[in-house]
Amino acid sequence: MKTKFSHYLLMMAFVFTLFSCTSELLQTGQDYHNSSNQNLVRQLRYNEFKNESPNLFENLKLKFAKKSKKTEQAKNFMINDFSVDAEYVYVSEHDDGKKTYTFTLEKGEKSWYLENYVLNEQDRGVFDAYIIRYDSTIVNQKSQIIGNEEVPKHIQVEYLGQIPDNPSAQKAMYCPQVPFQEYIWVPGVCSSSQQHETGDPACLCGTPGHMDCTPADNGFYIIQYTLLPTDCGGGGATPGNGPGTSPVTTGPYNPHGSGGIPNFDTPCGKIAELFLQQGFLDKYNEINVPSVFNLNHEKVYAVKFPSLGSANTEPEYINTDLPNCASEGNQPIVKDPMVYGLIHDHQNHSCNPDDYPPGKFPSHIDIKTFINDLMPHAMANTGSYANAYSLITTSGGNYMLMYSGTNDPGEINANQLKTLKNDYINFLLRAYDNPNYTQKDVEAELLRFIKEKINKPGLEIYRIAANSATKIEYNFSSPNRIKETPCP
Ligand SMILES: [Zn+2]
Repeated sequence: MKTKFSHYLLMMAFVFTLFSCTSELLQTGQDYHNSSNQNLVRQLRYNEFKNESPNLFENLKLKFAKKSKKTEQAKNFMINDFSVDAEYVYVSEHDDGKKTYTFTLEKGEKSWYLENYVLNEQDRGVFDAYIIRYDSTIVNQKSQIIGNEEVPKHIQVEYLGQIPDNPSAQKAMYCPQVPFQEYIWVPGVCSSSQQHETGDPACLCGTPGHMDCTPADNGFYIIQYTLLPTDCGGGGATPGNGPGTSPVTTGPYNPHGSGGIPNFDTPCGKIAELFLQQGFLDKYNEINVPSVFNLNHEKVYAVKFPSLGSANTEPEYINTDLPNCASEGNQPIVKDPMVYGLIHDHQNHSCNPDDYPPGKFPSHIDIKTFINDLMPHAMANTGSYANAYSLITTSGGNYMLMYSGTNDPGEINANQLKTLKNDYINFLLRAYDNPNYTQKDVEAELLRFIKEKINKPGLEIYRIAANSATKIEYNFSSPNRIKETPCP
């Protein structure tokens, strides 16, 4: 995973340009560039951090100790209502000796953002504490880096007060200015041979403060921002009343991930999580009623990642109903790179009696949209296909398309789609051959279509209700030819 992250950043390094602007900003940027070049950047392990900054460590540890005595084992700090992963910490040290420590936030619930806990030294031993959130644009920068002036739109800076505690400090959102950014190589922690892997004197294994020597960890690239937290009205941060004036030098830091947002979700877990989101539940209930199934058009919501600029943390649900009697069609909105989910219904009746019968199941078009559009968008925004979904409600049952694989399944192209349309109709008609057909016949035939004609390993179909989900697959020898695997 680290290798992948390094690879991205390496690619970024080729196209990275320092900054291009005229006037005094250049001056400011140059100043920070000069000072930044002298920054000492390191990654420390828990014990090294403890030895290097015993006072700070005690301050953090004490907060945890109120809740548990297992600090050392857990290697995390409980701070207010969140937990910080302290196994590794990223340190950026200015030439004046002031340091910025960056930790990864542990998250109990889903988040679209990479969240870091950042401690920025003001006076000796006095630190401003922040939660800094990076959106997917920052986390997934690949071949193109965004400009200094764009960066603040994708970063949230929440000031939490000072450590040791400063009761007069106000917890508040601040708007960052970014005069400077750079790619830097962060050396790995010490190796057992008591020599740093790069020979960098920053890490002298075996010396006080650097006692945790085995085994060596690889270094990595990080994009480091020089952030100046300012009040969002445009004024500078005021010492004594908010964050101090020493710049924060930090970057999106995730020592356990690929630089992306951690994701360990399974389709079952993801479906359960969706039903805990009020926004999703509202749309599910809205389109899962007979009056909607009897409309002469499909009711559709596109689901879009929130942008950090909006201060939303919930996805947007964009109503995009199809025109009357248009059944399956290309919805332009699914091309929006922030759209990763689709919620729609299939009708009870075909508009044109000569049409093939209504398909109360995901169609070839639904699957094409899921694979060609929703999946890549979820991958680009979260580093995982698991976040893409397509919900299809029908009067015969509700179905969710998910993808459990990590490999790109490959697009369904226009030629394939033509063939698939004919196959889809043939399999659907076969389900209706039996005058006493049931929804199980529809499921079995179309699952067989998906298995034999679509044939994308990792593509999964779930039969869902508000309180349950069951993975369904075509299997000739199972009852009704459907292998059912209920979610736990
Ligand atoms: Zn559909």
